[in-house]
Amino acid sequence: AERTLVLVKPDGVRRGLSGEILRRIEAKGYTLRAVRLLRPTSEVLHQHYAEHEGKPFFEPLVEFMMSGPVLAVVAEGEGVVPGFRSLAGATNPTEAAPGTIRGDLGRDWGTKVVQNLVHGSDSPESASREISLWFPEL
Ligand code: ATP
Repeated sequence: AERTLVLVKPDGVRRGLSGEILRRIEAKGYTLRAVRLLRPTSEVLHQHYAEHEGKPFFEPLVEFMMSGPVLAVVAEGEGVVPGFRSLAGATNPTEAAPGTIRGDLGRDWGTKVVQNLVHGSDSPESASREISLWFPEL
């Protein structure tokens, strides 16, 4: 079945929103296949965000992602890749629609890196690459 990688970023874990975010994934009807709380290494993050290497927010983004524990999740279900992206809402929480994770739970904190609570794979190809990176045993 289709799978996606979800990350509850350090801001989400720090704010105690992990349960609420997992609840929304399950309430939508997706299945949690794997869940792990970890402090990601710089190596994993450089690979995860390789497409952004060289952009001005790249190093601040890696640093932000290392600022606290991250909850890594594999969610499964028909259409879960675009399905989770629509649950998450727009990248910028200021623009994200009410009803979405970022729209309901996020805002602008005045930080250099947009703190937007979650990551979700953007295609099935990215999902399989990211799942092998975060869950090498799966
Ligand atoms: P994610 O990959 O985390 O699901 P996304 O696909 O919506 O988010 P990307 O364009 O892949 O967004 O950017 C990755 C992350 O980098 C964003 O989630 C955000 O935290 C940060 N980011 C993206 N663009 C900017 C920007 N212009 N300024 C600051 N931070 C940014």
